[in-house]
Amino acid sequence: MKMTINEVWHKSHPMPKNPSIEQRIEWYTKHVKHCQCRPFPEKLKEEMKKLSRAKTP
Ligand SMILES: [Zn+2]
Repeated sequence: MKMTINEVWHKSHPMPKNPSIEQRIEWYTKHVKHCQCRPFPEKLKEEMKKLSRAKTP
């Protein structure tokens, strides 16, 4: 099975140098829609849960 990498998308959407959690979530959310070279990190999913929990009272 070949991993599909959307090089054009990657070149126009570089990951920020020192990304915050929010920036990483945003990047990966866009990334999964355009490219399948790597999965959404499990750690980041946990961080998303923490963030949504923090928002809801
Ligand atoms: Zn990719």
